[in-house]
Amino acid sequence: MFTHPDFSELQQTLGWATEDDVRSDLISEHIDIDDLAALLSPVAENYLPQMAARSSQITLQRFGHITQLYAPLYISNLCINRCAYCGFSSGNKIPRRTLTIDEAEKEAMILHDRGIQHILLVTGEAPKAVGVDYLEKLVLRLRDKFAALSIEIQPLEENEYKRLFLAGITAVAVYQETYDRSIYKQVHLAGKKSDYDYRLDTPARAAAAGMREIGIGALLGLADWRAEGLALALHLKWLRKQYWRTSFAISFPRLRPAAGEFQPMVPVSEKNLSQLIFALRLFDHDVGLLLSTREEERYRNGMIGLGPTRYSAGSCTAPGGYSNPELEGEQFSVGDHRNISEVSNALIAKGFDPVYKDWDKEFQVTSS
Ligand code: SF4
Repeated sequence: MFTHPDFSELQQTLGWATEDDVRSDLISEHIDIDDLAALLSPVAENYLPQMAARSSQITLQRFGHITQLYAPLYISNLCINRCAYCGFSSGNKIPRRTLTIDEAEKEAMILHDRGIQHILLVTGEAPKAVGVDYLEKLVLRLRDKFAALSIEIQPLEENEYKRLFLAGITAVAVYQETYDRSIYKQVHLAGKKSDYDYRLDTPARAAAAGMREIGIGALLGLADWRAEGLALALHLKWLRKQYWRTSFAISFPRLRPAAGEFQPMVPVSEKNLSQLIFALRLFDHDVGLLLSTREEERYRNGMIGLGPTRYSAGSCTAPGGYSNPELEGEQFSVGDHRNISEVSNALIAKGFDPVYKDWDKEFQVTSS
């Protein structure tokens, strides 16, 4: 099982960095965790343009002039957990809704007709309403219509992930939210999610089940983002070693306004976010880096080609919201309101190809 040093220890290592360390990292082909600490430290802030240039160079070498596009499909906003920062938290009085399988399919086909080939199925944690049986049925309906189906749902056991993999799910996103145990305890007030170690072990269970890609991340705004970056890198390194056949991705969700009015516990500026993205690209040349519609149009346009490899587009975070944009009950309000064609055109204007499909579903092993 993955373990990591105490969060305060990670924070301490950030204080040892010098400008010489940063300059050396910028010309190194491979950097280790200590080197990464220098790139995440305050002294590296003076080198942000150089970090952006190096991150861009590596990203173009490894991924070319492409950006993958995907869209989330929210199935249910029911949740048994109380997470202080989330609009779906069980204590919040919002209209609750779970799509029937027919309704979820209809939402998926709206995205399909808009050109989306990769859908991320998202739910609150409500295993009774949206359990493995439900998801398996939905995925069997959708798998022939989409190039990729991934999930961001409640943590499952390995055999449950295996069932969904055989049905047609190829990727799992599960974010630790924060690697600071004490903050984790403060913000996860009730429900199964308050078990830090069970959640920490979830990416490994999904990888062991054969999932093609695992997405990890921290919710930025809960704890020191620099130390979160180090913990994420340690987690990624460990997962790569154990599950060398699996590919990995990192997301950078920054806290957005949501029901419950939770305020970020620490500020994370766009400049901070950029430093984190560039540093992790220099640390791992092949990891997918996701920038979602939580961020605004101006920022997402500015980051094209500098590190991120995948953008969400045209997102709605309320179940049923693609059929009925007036519906309430969203998880958070998005920052980039452009539709899929507008995001696509912005990529093309910068010389990048929007890619809706990164692999062929014929390669997928499925049950009959
Ligand atoms: S973060 Fe996830 S588990 Fe927590 S309240 Fe929101 S949907 Fe539920």
